[in-house]
Amino acid sequence: MKILCIGKNYVDHAKEMDSEVPSSPMIFMKPESALNNKDVLAYPSFTKNLHYELELVIRICQTAKNVDLESAPDYFDRIGLGIDFTARDIQSHCKSKGHPWEKAKAFDNSASLSPMLSKDKFNLSDLKFKLEHNDRVVQDGSSKDMIFNLNYLIHYASQYFTLNEGDLIYTGTPAGVGPVQSGDNLKGYLVDDLLLNVSII
Ligand code: MG
Repeated sequence: MKILCIGKNYVDHAKEMDSEVPSSPMIFMKPESALNNKDVLAYPSFTKNLHYELELVIRICQTAKNVDLESAPDYFDRIGLGIDFTARDIQSHCKSKGHPWEKAKAFDNSASLSPMLSKDKFNLSDLKFKLEHNDRVVQDGSSKDMIFNLNYLIHYASQYFTLNEGDLIYTGTPAGVGPVQSGDNLKGYLVDDLLLNVSII
């Protein structure tokens, strides 16, 4: 399986990163070895500025290639929360050199993932989610504020990449990203339900 991630899919986050709002989805990938279903993350030794980015995550349920917008909903069945952990110092260095940023984004355990729930019980056009960092709310978003919505992401990405059952799409983060330290706790809520609880060790 593979993990597609969308960059700068919320206007407020693009602003906080001093970035332009993209005119088409910005896509990067993480390998399967990045996936972390556990409730702990060991702070990687190679970074001094590890950031959280809470994101809605969807699961692809059948092979998708050149999917049109109208049928995109048929290609994902589950939704949950993930944290796109980012070594911000390494990412900044890679960006400044014009280099790929896999070392900053695709390292082992960089993709925390909650249990994935049936999408049928949710209002996908206004799905609220939030992150608490040491019990303080730091990110508070809704799918309604996405620049490119879930259906469009499948439509767009499937023009370039065949999506297979089990693939995941991390759909971008709202504003409020920030650093963590060893000993910190992150709690992700989908609507009002605690779905993700990760301690940094
Ligand atoms: Mg992200």
